[in-house]
Amino acid sequence: MATVNVMENLVMEKLAERLAVMDCCKCDRCINDMLAVALNELQPKYVNTRKGELFTRIDATKQQNAIDLDVAITKAIETVTAAPHKD
Ligand SMILES: [Zn+2]
Repeated sequence: MATVNVMENLVMEKLAERLAVMDCCKCDRCINDMLAVALNELQPKYVNTRKGELFTRIDATKQQNAIDLDVAITKAIETVTAAPHKD
């Protein structure tokens, strides 16, 4: 049983949903940059059991968490799209 940051899974899912309808670069590098920006905005949620992961996922659907997630993802997409492939 590994320790995982469930926030990472949630951000990846949400980001994929948003990018599906967006006209911007979706290469691995940009997606990883977006993930990094979004995850730095959010509180990590580490769990080490399958059960814990499910509970945290349900928790993340609560309104404030959903808003925070949306804001962080919007910021991440805007930041990376404004300056893609920047070192
Ligand atoms: Zn790119």
